[in-house]
Amino acid sequence: MLELPPSRSGRQPLEIASQVARAAGGILLSSFSRTEKKTRPKGRSNLVTEADYLSEQAILRELRAEFPSCGFLSEESEAVVSDSPFTWVVDPMDGSNNFSFGVPFFSVNLALLRREEVVLGVTYDPVRDELFYGLKGQGAFVGGKPLRVSARTELKDALVGFDMGYDMERGREMLEAARKLWTAVFSFRIMGSAALVLAYVASGRLDLYLHRRLYPWDILAGRLLVEEAGGLATDWEGRPVTRNTHQVVAGNPALPPADYRLAVRTPSGRGVYSFCMCPGGEVMNAASGEGQAPVNGMSVRARNSGFGNSGIVASIAPAEFGEAGAREDGPLAGIGFQEAIERRTFDRGGGGYGVPAANLLAFVRGMELPPSPGRLLAPRVVPDDLRGILPGAVEEDIRFGLLRFGGAMRGFLTREATLYAVESRTSSPVRIERVNYASVTHKGLYPVGEGAGHAGGIVSSAVDGIRAALRILETYSS
Ligand SMILES: Cc1cc2nc3c(=O)[nH]c(=O)nc-3n(C[C@H](O)[C@H](O)[C@H](O)COP(=O)(O)OP(=O)(O)OC[C@H]3O[C@@H](n4cnc5c(N)ncnc54)[C@H](O)[C@@H]3O)c2cc1C
Repeated sequence: MLELPPSRSGRQPLEIASQVARAAGGILLSSFSRTEKKTRPKGRSNLVTEADYLSEQAILRELRAEFPSCGFLSEESEAVVSDSPFTWVVDPMDGSNNFSFGVPFFSVNLALLRREEVVLGVTYDPVRDELFYGLKGQGAFVGGKPLRVSARTELKDALVGFDMGYDMERGREMLEAARKLWTAVFSFRIMGSAALVLAYVASGRLDLYLHRRLYPWDILAGRLLVEEAGGLATDWEGRPVTRNTHQVVAGNPALPPADYRLAVRTPSGRGVYSFCMCPGGEVMNAASGEGQAPVNGMSVRARNSGFGNSGIVASIAPAEFGEAGAREDGPLAGIGFQEAIERRTFDRGGGGYGVPAANLLAFVRGMELPPSPGRLLAPRVVPDDLRGILPGAVEEDIRFGLLRFGGAMRGFLTREATLYAVESRTSSPVRIERVNYASVTHKGLYPVGEGAGHAGGIVSSAVDGIRAALRILETYSS
């Protein structure tokens, strides 16, 4: 059962909030029709109008009369802290710049917090007379109809809204992120009222909304509307939006996570490419044998670790197998090559399964930089320049590839990135020959999956196993 504060009149908080938002919207609308609006600058690209203050006074007067013991957090006033678990968060007008320039897109926003949980949200657009409202666990609505985020699943079909806000640096970051996303999405909209766009996301009118710098009164009502409409609203690292959050990514969770794939051909003819980019991913110590030290990347379901990872892979020709110093020859030369590299990595990690790591810029440009802090890779990370682990020509080509990736994707070559050695098991260096999934030398043996050289990942291994099993059924049931 949702706990809400009692009001003096005995009416429900949602009814009161809706009425208060409509009344404040009426105040905004009557000033909006005037050609001359009283404004003053609050900061760069940030205007506050007389209407903001009039709207706020009306809202606070009503809410304080009904809920005298609640706390209040309002855009244009001092915060009122109270012993009550409930706090009203008030934005008397979101979109003041639009309002001042005569653009009819602004809103009144009220959210009610119970400690840190948003339990009620109201966003009112006085121009279209649309009142969006929701209660925690009870859904979000407009005009009595339930809100539902869009069902689009492809980024290329997504209409994405964003705003730059008033912080120059964060605004620049937002534009940079938009530039990178530009070719991947259907189109962008710069709207000018974050709160109202969040209600639009909740209504499925926009698929995604992004902002790098805003305030709790801009987002808390919208967070509730989006979540009650089946969407997600988080900060840029995927953490839930709270009253201390100053950024937002809100949208339809069916949209896929950001992904990239980079590939170059080096002057020597070698392919170098990024492999298995995992948003929110982690690099894991994947040692499976004594004295070997491979790593591998993966992400857990939440994808909110704050990191992403990708393997950087170089193709190898069988003629190069001897260059790692492997002793094996013949069909298992590829395994010898792999093991020689993994043993060298093991030694460089201190001989106790430590993982050698270098700052990306130190590796590609020879800069004196430590691996960036923040990742605890078991059992330990061992700072290293990573030179000489791979055969010289491979190392040089990977360096060439990384520099090219940096040219192709701004932000790729960063001092925040760390290279871990060594992802040596992207594909099996041997393939067991088979006919109709059966071994050609050992009757009744069906070598399947990655180790047999017939798959390279979870799904392809599973499919290979299923097909082999069907073939076995077919063979032995006839
Ligand atoms: C950290 C990490 C992250 C990865 N991330 C991804 C990813 O994001 N996406 C992706 O597609 N792939 C990923 N992979 C690769 C993927 O896990 C493998 O390609 C896939 O699991 C291979 O399946 P498989 O059935 O061929 O072999 P395995 O899953 O290795 O299964 C082989 C099984 O045989 C058992 N076995 C071995 N020897 C014997 C024996 N003598 N007797 C009995 N049983 C034995 C093993 O215990 C094991 O259970 C990742 C791998 C690692 C290590």
